[in-house]
Amino acid sequence: MTQMIFADSLSRLGTESAFVVLARAQALAAAGRDIINLGIGQPDFATPPHIVEAGIRALRDGHHGYTPANGLPALRQAVAADLHRRHGVEVNPDHVVVVPGGKPTMFFAVLMFGQPGAEIMYPNPGFPIYESVIRYSGATPVPIGLEEKNGFAFSAEAVLEKITPATRLIILNSPANPTGGVTPKQEIDKLVAGLEAHPHVAILSDEIYSCMLYGGRSHVSLLQYPEIRDRLIVLDGWSKTYAMTGWRLGYAVWPEAAVDHVTRLCINDHSCVNAATQFAGIAALEGPQDAVRDMVAQFDARRQAIVEALNGLPGVRCAEPAGAFYAFPNIEGTGMTSKEAQDRFLDEAGVATVAGTSFGAWGEGYLRLSYANSQENILRAVDRIAAVL
Ligand code: PLP
Repeated sequence: MTQMIFADSLSRLGTESAFVVLARAQALAAAGRDIINLGIGQPDFATPPHIVEAGIRALRDGHHGYTPANGLPALRQAVAADLHRRHGVEVNPDHVVVVPGGKPTMFFAVLMFGQPGAEIMYPNPGFPIYESVIRYSGATPVPIGLEEKNGFAFSAEAVLEKITPATRLIILNSPANPTGGVTPKQEIDKLVAGLEAHPHVAILSDEIYSCMLYGGRSHVSLLQYPEIRDRLIVLDGWSKTYAMTGWRLGYAVWPEAAVDHVTRLCINDHSCVNAATQFAGIAALEGPQDAVRDMVAQFDARRQAIVEALNGLPGVRCAEPAGAFYAFPNIEGTGMTSKEAQDRFLDEAGVATVAGTSFGAWGEGYLRLSYANSQENILRAVDRIAAVL
């Protein structure tokens, strides 16, 4: 027995069950089972070659040392130019802080505002790390319940109603993981207007899926609302858009008053992002974007195929996701809980999915299927699930 005494705070830290499912699926595959993985939240495409080349070139050119903690100036300028191109907004490159992936921004933003007595609102079902790090910080997590009948968009009224003097931060995510929900502009307009009465509340808008919208929709960024820019953090990055999850590269635009705080957190935590990866990030933003368009077009075709196939299953109803690369069917009619469905589909059908409850209590009755897999595999997976049902 160990004599070590770990900090109490560790018991409050959650996890991302998609990684647990992935490990189980990989173990089953290693044991010879034919597993179709619809559990994982990363594009099944390779990083476009010109981006890979830029990373290799940076290493050959000798970029082996530290960079500024907030990121290479050329990369932060490329981010500002990209945000202008995509959202039509002016961003000061000095307010951009480059970090290793999307998650560090989340962690730092929550550490910056979270403490015992503080309340932080977050989407539920939502990316599980939000609730995990809120609890870790000692703050009280206040769920923003997302419902199928609203296309899993948040309701401005419901968010505004829950604001108290203790609210420090509201986390929003559109397009959303795990639901694929996209919040319409009029709801965001309403929220921003309502926030005027609560100037003490900061906003973290997780826009990591901002390039993945379907059906002719275009992304509405919270950056497009100048009235909240002095308390707005917008998280985005390369992981999903450029199929770069393993490179570990992300960024956020921070309000001026928070830039020094987050930079100090970076210096204490990781010094800077891997230099070669940052050069790859510049190539991604400044190079041709056709690989992104092709990937999104393929996701769209798969999205339509998976929704149609899921709606053909007994006891299953699947709303059409408007963004990201997840379907979030309602499985209540099967008589199984989310966890039972996840386990049975993996054990009996060899199909990895993630229980809706892995994304919070509001996810009961749902299952997340990632369509970051070939159309052929997706249809085979749904056939196998049909056999179990
Ligand atoms: N935000 C959301 C909503 C996500 O779904 C993910 C990854 O799944 C992330 C952030 C984190 O991305 P990264 O892998 O870049 O840390």
